[in-house]
Amino acid sequence: MQQYLRIKADHPESLLFYRMGDFYELFFEDAKRAAKLLDIVLTSRGESAGERIPMAGVPAHAAESYLARLLKLGEAVAICEQIGDPATSRGPVERRVTRILTPGTLTDEGLLAERSENITLAIATDGTRFGLAWIDVASGRFNALELDNRAALEAELARLQPAEVLVPATLEPALGCDHAPVQRRRPEWQFDGIAATRRLMALFNLATLDGLGLTNATLAVAAAGCVLLYCEHTLCGDLPHLQMLQFERRSANVLLDPATRRHLELVDSADDNSQHTLAALLDTTATGMGGRLLRRWLLAPLRDHTALRERLNAVDALLMGPAPAVRDLLKQVCDVERVSTRIALGSARPRDLTQLRDTLELLPELAGQLLPLAAQRVQQIAENFGDYADVCVLLRRALVAAPPVLIRDGGMIAIGFDAELDDLRTLATDADQFLLDLERRERERTGLPSLKVGFNRIHGYYLELSRVHADAVPLDFHRRQTLKGVERYITPELKNFEARILTAHARALARERTLYDELLVTLRHYVPDWQRTAAALAELDVFACFAERAATLNFAAPKFSAEPGIVIEQGRHPLVEQGRGGGFVPNDLILNPERRMLIITGPNMGGKSTYMRQTALIAILAHCGSYVPASAATFGPLDMIFSRIGASDQLARGHSTFMVEMAETAHILHHATAESLVLIDEIGRGTSTFDGMSLAWAAAEHLAGVNRAYVLFATHYFELTALAAALPAIANVRMDALEHGDDVVFLHQVKDGPANQSFGLAVALLAGVPRRVVERARVRLTELTTHYVQSLDNPTPELAFLRGDRDDVRPRIVHPVVEALSAIDPDNLSPKQALELVYALHAQVGN
Ligand code: ADP
Repeated sequence: MQQYLRIKADHPESLLFYRMGDFYELFFEDAKRAAKLLDIVLTSRGESAGERIPMAGVPAHAAESYLARLLKLGEAVAICEQIGDPATSRGPVERRVTRILTPGTLTDEGLLAERSENITLAIATDGTRFGLAWIDVASGRFNALELDNRAALEAELARLQPAEVLVPATLEPALGCDHAPVQRRRPEWQFDGIAATRRLMALFNLATLDGLGLTNATLAVAAAGCVLLYCEHTLCGDLPHLQMLQFERRSANVLLDPATRRHLELVDSADDNSQHTLAALLDTTATGMGGRLLRRWLLAPLRDHTALRERLNAVDALLMGPAPAVRDLLKQVCDVERVSTRIALGSARPRDLTQLRDTLELLPELAGQLLPLAAQRVQQIAENFGDYADVCVLLRRALVAAPPVLIRDGGMIAIGFDAELDDLRTLATDADQFLLDLERRERERTGLPSLKVGFNRIHGYYLELSRVHADAVPLDFHRRQTLKGVERYITPELKNFEARILTAHARALARERTLYDELLVTLRHYVPDWQRTAAALAELDVFACFAERAATLNFAAPKFSAEPGIVIEQGRHPLVEQGRGGGFVPNDLILNPERRMLIITGPNMGGKSTYMRQTALIAILAHCGSYVPASAATFGPLDMIFSRIGASDQLARGHSTFMVEMAETAHILHHATAESLVLIDEIGRGTSTFDGMSLAWAAAEHLAGVNRAYVLFATHYFELTALAAALPAIANVRMDALEHGDDVVFLHQVKDGPANQSFGLAVALLAGVPRRVVERARVRLTELTTHYVQSLDNPTPELAFLRGDRDDVRPRIVHPVVEALSAIDPDNLSPKQALELVYALHAQVGN
């Protein structure tokens, strides 16, 4: 207990897994907490200050699944192992915390998701600006970034999705880190800039940090210092595999705000089903490394056209030639990145090493596939594979072909690698033969054919004779045991054999462990090279995946141009297209300085939002270096993508629809530039019709006139179609549909010009609203329209405001029923919604 309490005092924030033989035990509050979280039995053991000590435990061999559950819940776990040898210890065996597992600092294969990174991120701030630094321990990647404002911080946290966030202890609580399930406060001194600079210079062996682009980036340096300390603390040592700190610049990327990332369902989907995301559709990479890189690229598209052309050239080259062969080889490649980390940290298992060996042996063949290809990027990849002929020989010699999972049981070191180990093993396996030989020799020497060799656990090996022969034994036979009728003896030769044989197994295991550790130390030198190899393999994997997707999904290569504008021919929404299994109607898009904003009208369910989202998805794919779902696409410079679509997820956090809408709109109006793409769906719905329409109007005008951004603006306010006449850069397009009797047929085709009907009533019929109600609504609609059109000559104050001084702008129709109807999704109408809709219609019709 003294030892336990001493160790626990150093780890107050972690659950202490205290090794006792075959179990990890937890005591006191830890035990109660773990029992609750893991649903394991809470018992007690011994007493402390007159009270029973609460205890709970898990078997060591099954610890991994329990650990995974605790980490998922955001707990930190300190693993305290027995260091000393129980056989030789006096008093309690020595124990030490060897590892602290936290959600953000894992390296164990079983605890990590194969295709996502696991990041720990620190945030330093001076009140207005922010410095971010993050480490993915499993790969050794170390990055930093500086940000000017809170919106940028939100966006970066949404992009990086850190598993753990470290903030200064004194920071105000509401930092808006909703993206990190686990937030830890670290003492202020850990963010000290000077100490951090010193630590980083020592780590990377540099005289100054200027070369990293960190001049004046004091907040990023402070954050880097903190995250580094934390990772060293949890790994209980330094991080020999840490890669050089990369200082990122946001200006290099096409920025996506958190709302856009969510709405477009790039990596996470709205319904938490990761099957329905762009990443899921796109990711046919063969390795975890490739899958992770693909996600990083999707979440941080590039602005630099030269770099994008390089990526596209690589995809082209693979598409023309060896993509299938390359992918087949890549399927046999192991996670070189994570295996190297485990080698560096000394935790690699035998199978890690044999998989690495098999991968390294594949590299020449893989490079052979790439060498004939012209693309420069592909050539660089092949060069970066490296040459590991020597280390492959070593690994082949050192390890058996198919080693066991655990080091503990031995059997991983190959025969012929080490003479001492071979001797020890021979001794163990050849023991039987030795005993048979000995028996034969002793029978001959004594002339007693009944002499037998035997073994028992108490007395060990012996030679056994019946009592009648006792007088005939040679002098070097020493009596070991006397039984009824028989005598048992030992000879110096047998005793010698016994001493060696009984320890041989244990010594072989120990020898194997030593050899294995030495091997890891040798391999550690290669880690930086393997990290380069891993990066090359990951990139190749993504290019090959892009090539495969382009062929399978019928994507085309995008083009980039210095001329401003976005032109898409026959664009498709890749996810809706797949979901429909055919019959998707492709659509064109032209945006340029003369035609910057499209006001999109058309019936609900007509395909407006699909058209807008596909435009953004095509832009993002193109800026990752992928082919795109279109027959052709050309992009001028693009700096940001914004979107204002729906708001359901934020509603759950207690903001009103209108507030969320306005906050998102304000953000766009403040930040969008002439190189930004803005998607706006249904602005102003959360308020009264006139307010909403006025706001939508004003926002559209501002975007077209002040921001001068590229805008797709979908709306139910048909009044807005009049904007096109007022501002030349605005054009009307509509989603075509046909009304046929009471039916609507959606053509999903984008046509020039405004829509001329709302189709709301027809959609209501489709949704199952009783015909009588719809018919009554139709009558009422005609009355209202007539009344409304009459009122234009005698405008209300709101309408006067909306119309401003323009005579050319004439709103045509506004109707609350149309609005109520537009909120429904006939594909997904719950009985409750249907009922609400009928009530709403009744109320309106009654009025
Ligand atoms: P809106 O935003 O106008 O209400 P959506 O974009 O949500 O309409 O589209 C509604 C449904 O219509 C989609 O779920 C999809 O199934 C179908 N759809 C949309 N665009 C197309 C298209 N171009 N081709 C085929 N089907 C489409």
